[in-house]
Amino acid sequence: ECTAESVAEAMRAVAAVVVEHRDELLRLDREIGDGDHGENMARGFTALVSKLDGHAPASPGGVLRLVATTLISTVGGAAGPLYGTAFLRAATSVGDVASMDGTVVAKALRAALEGVVARGKAEVGDKTMVDALTPAVAAAESVAASGGGVAEVLSAAADAAELGADSTVPLVARKGRASYLGERSAGHLDPGARSTSLLLRTFAGRAR
Ligand code: ADP
Ligand code: MG
Ligand code: MG
Repeated sequence: ECTAESVAEAMRAVAAVVVEHRDELLRLDREIGDGDHGENMARGFTALVSKLDGHAPASPGGVLRLVATTLISTVGGAAGPLYGTAFLRAATSVGDVASMDGTVVAKALRAALEGVVARGKAEVGDKTMVDALTPAVAAAESVAASGGGVAEVLSAAADAAELGADSTVPLVARKGRASYLGERSAGHLDPGARSTSLLLRTFAGRAR
C-alpha cells in the first residue's frame, strides 16, 4: 500500500538520508560545481519535514505537490527548480488516487523525468541527474509492465539509478555549472545524479 501516510513517511526518510549525505553531496559539488548541493538539498527537505509536521496532505499526489512547492521555494540553484518540476509533474500524473500501485508509480517517474528534461534540456550523457533518472524510469516501466508492485518497481528504479549515477564519472559535463569546467569535469561523480539515486534508494527501502 502506498497511501498519503506512507508517501509522507518516505519523504521524512529522504530528509534524513539527505541530511546524512549532506557532506558527501557538498564534496561532490565542490569538485565540479560551487559546493552547495548538499546544503541546498538538506535545506529543502528539512523545510519539507516542518511542513509535513504542520499539516500532512490527504493524498499521495497532495504530498508530492507539497514536496514540489517546498523544494521550488527553498532549494534554489539548478536543483531546486529541477526537482520541484519533477515532483510537480509526478503529482499531476498521480492525480487524486488514494493509493498508488506499481503502474501509477512508474507513470509518475516518467512524468518526473519529462519535467526535468522540459526544464533543463539535458540529454543522457550530459552528466546530470537525467543520467540517473532516465534508466530508472525505463527499469520502473519494465517491472510495472510485468505486473510488479510498488516495492519491486522502486527497487528496480533505484538499482538502475545507481548504475546511471556511476556512469556520470567519466563524462564531460554539457549542462549546469560543471560544464564550465569542460574536460576537467571528467573523473567526478555528478552530485545531482548522486542525489537522485539516493532519493530513489530511500523510496525503495520504504516501499512494501
Ligand atoms: P547549482 O549548480 O545551481 O549550484 P546544485 O548544486 O544544487 O545547483 O545542483 C547541481 C546539479 O543539478 C548537477 O549536479 C546536475 O545533476 C543538476 N543539473 C544542473 N543543470 C541541469 C540541467 N540543465 N538538467 C538537468 N540537471 C541539471
Ligand atoms: Mg551547486
Ligand atoms: Mg549553487
